[in-house]
Amino acid sequence: MTEHYADFFCSRDVVLSLVKAGVPANSKWGALILYMRSITEYDYLSAEQKQQMQDLVMQVIRERDYSETRFKEFVRRQEQILYKPWNKKLEEAFRETVGLIEHIRSQNIQRAKEVKDLRETTINTVRDQNALEDIVVEIRAAFEKVIWQLEADARDLVEMSYTDQLTKLNNRRAFDRYFRATLTEHVVTGKPMSLMFLDIDHFKAFNDSYGHRIGDQALVTVAGKLMGFAHKYSTMPNRSFFPARFGGEEFIVALPGVGLEEAKEDAESLRNIIEEYNFIIRDHNGQVLQKGIKITVSVGVATLRPEWTASHGERLLDEADRAMYRAKNQGRNQVCVMDEC
Ligand code: GH3
Ligand code: MG
Ligand code: MG
Repeated sequence: MTEHYADFFCSRDVVLSLVKAGVPANSKWGALILYMRSITEYDYLSAEQKQQMQDLVMQVIRERDYSETRFKEFVRRQEQILYKPWNKKLEEAFRETVGLIEHIRSQNIQRAKEVKDLRETTINTVRDQNALEDIVVEIRAAFEKVIWQLEADARDLVEMSYTDQLTKLNNRRAFDRYFRATLTEHVVTGKPMSLMFLDIDHFKAFNDSYGHRIGDQALVTVAGKLMGFAHKYSTMPNRSFFPARFGGEEFIVALPGVGLEEAKEDAESLRNIIEEYNFIIRDHNGQVLQKGIKITVSVGVATLRPEWTASHGERLLDEADRAMYRAKNQGRNQVCVMDEC
């Protein structure tokens, strides 16, 4: 009976301990526990949310009535804790999708109008021109214009689907694509490649103090600093700096061609640039409300090990992520390098 969960979700140990605790195997209750356990592993949950989720797991384990009615009641009562962690993510995805749909919709209306114009042009040209050659030239020009515009639309859509709407940085999808391709190339050629993981410090408190809108401006500012750095790199041969918004207040940078020492120095100067920046808060008329507000970041740096293969991509991400968490634990606003701290 217990095989069912083990196949789908987790280790046999967890399943066995559930059964031992009296939670009926293959019941919705068991699945609920597995769900709660698995989502506490996601980084974007705050420590408080993780704790709440863990407390709920304990509550379920202590539960003695594992009936369907009790299940419904429990889920309804704990809705806030169970689903709240996803709200932010869903909201973000939803806003991005709505933006994309709006864009496509207005483009479609515009193109429909242009195709109608093209039909008019064709009819008028055939009616007004006598020479067949002139007719062909005019119709061809009108068709070429529409084709050129459709091609531009397609490029536009691809770019939108790889761009974070708020910061205009590459989004996670763009990063994943770039990372996979570059990693394979660097593993095959043996060239160095590093990774930086940046997370804004105490950003929840920043939002709580200044509001989400100002928080959004802070994200745009940090993204701007990353873009500035990428620009500096664009003149360097054989080395790249590919920044992306990884999600929320987290950013990631792929550094193909860059070894650990150099990546560490760059991370340190980036951290310093962000710390030195004096953030200004303005009202909607542009009036300065507050000056000199600071944002800091904790940065984790990791590099490809010579013995790793292309399948170790996740490992590189994990190492950078772990180093970032160590930077947090050691006091924040600092750079931590894999194996060094
Ligand atoms: P730490 O130093 O440990 O990283 O603390 P933190 O407060 O930055 O971390 P936590 O994960 O607790 O909170 C992250 C915050 O980032 C919570 C969330 O409201 C905020 N956030 C995530 N995405 C956005 C966004 O798009 N806009 C704004 N304004 N805030 C965001
Ligand atoms: Mg974070
Ligand atoms: Mg943070």
